[in-house]
Amino acid sequence: MGEKNWMKKVVFFKEIDKLYNSLKYFDILDFKNKKYPVKLHMGERGNRYFPKPDFVKNVIAVLKNLPSDPFLFDTTVAYPGLRHRKKGYYKLAKIHGFIKKEVGCDVVIDDSGIPIKIDDRSYEVANNIVNSSNIFAISHVKGHVATGMGGAIKNFGMGGVTKETKIRMHHGSRPVYNGEYCTFCGRCSEVCPFNSIEVGDNFWKQDMSSCFGCGVCVDSCTNKAIDYKDADFNYVLACAAKACVSGKNVIYLNDVNRISKSCDCDPGAGPIICSDIGYLVSDDPVAIDKASIDIIHKVKPDIFEKVNYIDPLKQVYFAEDIHLGTSSYELINI
Ligand code: SF4
Ligand code: SF4
Repeated sequence: MGEKNWMKKVVFFKEIDKLYNSLKYFDILDFKNKKYPVKLHMGERGNRYFPKPDFVKNVIAVLKNLPSDPFLFDTTVAYPGLRHRKKGYYKLAKIHGFIKKEVGCDVVIDDSGIPIKIDDRSYEVANNIVNSSNIFAISHVKGHVATGMGGAIKNFGMGGVTKETKIRMHHGSRPVYNGEYCTFCGRCSEVCPFNSIEVGDNFWKQDMSSCFGCGVCVDSCTNKAIDYKDADFNYVLACAAKACVSGKNVIYLNDVNRISKSCDCDPGAGPIICSDIGYLVSDDPVAIDKASIDIIHKVKPDIFEKVNYIDPLKQVYFAEDIHLGTSSYELINI
């Protein structure tokens, strides 16, 4: 019984019409009469699995009824394409149906931010996040090539910072080779999901253009002949998420449906790797991501590691280590 006092609540339900009831377990009344961002990845062009406007409209309607004044929010991205610049992202948001007429609230895209320091590194957090005491997050849970899985932590760790910070985080997680310690065993080459490393009797070669900075090679080398240029991507992701949400009242809704192998940034994110599960709500990003992974693993054991070769819990435990939240939770079915 006493255990539950330090466990975070995660509420599970299958139909979105239970959303309002789920929010009563958290400090939703603090959102009343406030204007605040609803953090949402609005999907890359060609992607079919991002949360759709009719679903988002239902969530916005619940929030507006509090009453409160939510607006949909996201940041520009590091890679080329429509979402690289604000103008292009607004265009794509419109193509995907994220306009006031469809979802019932304004849509705001941010391109600049304010540096916030976590554990000796600085992360530029989007202005609309920094300037809000309250945030609501809609995070689609799916696979990811560099983190195994993406949910609430990733929605902020990558989605809440400027593209300059996104680039720095990605580049800093690239592997650096130190030939002095290499025995040319070839293990790193065998495990690299993108065939970026070639090892021969007396040579080690890497194709940087195909490297996603997933860190699988670094973890596989017991001789410490490969290290990160700066830090593990899963670690900086957790730190950036902490820079975004620390000290704020954030309520997280995880959409655990349309669970694709790859993320909503990927135009070809399929196939679907697990059947639809439902929705989770919490005020702790670590607890909700841990619960999302656990609930998926019950249906498809170790599915993210099987398809993306990375343990999805890596980001969860890094996040717990830096006190972003806790992986201990009490699941409440409603
Ligand atoms: S795993 Fe390490 S020791 Fe083996 S080939 Fe790769 S870098 Fe060299
Ligand atoms: S970081 Fe990942 S993608 Fe890059 S070389 Fe290592 S295993 Fe391959």
